[in-house]
Amino acid sequence: MELRNCPECGKIFAFVGINLCPKCKEEDEKEFIKVKEYLYKNPNVGIFELAEATEVDEAKIVRWVREGRIEGKYPGMVVSCERCGKSIFEGRFCPSCSNELARSFSGSLNINTTKKPELSKTSEKAKFHIKSIRDI
Ligand SMILES: [Zn+2]
Ligand SMILES: [Zn+2]
Repeated sequence: MELRNCPECGKIFAFVGINLCPKCKEEDEKEFIKVKEYLYKNPNVGIFELAEATEVDEAKIVRWVREGRIEGKYPGMVVSCERCGKSIFEGRFCPSCSNELARSFSGSLNINTTKKPELSKTSEKAKFHIKSIRDI
């Protein structure tokens, strides 16, 4: 059993996969239901208005959007990409930034192998060039 401090109230609780104590978890569930109900009735509401209307912490709603708990792509339920600030409906980065991040990550892993395929490509092209000249 792992003991943790609840990030909401600071109490120590037994961690079972959810990083909230049972009491705060219950509160969290209640707030989530409230938010979902409000959204259902007001699908065009923005995060700020939603937080005001439901008295739920705005940061919490942002977190739920990033975690994908608020699904359905409500037009007002957008968060910004942590890299370029573009509006997104889920996660931390927009698709182009996550692509770029993935590419730079895999690129740094293959530093030694990136030059070789390029060399073989040019020599093949040269071979092909010589052949086509000969064919003429
Ligand atoms: Zn708690
Ligand atoms: Zn981005």
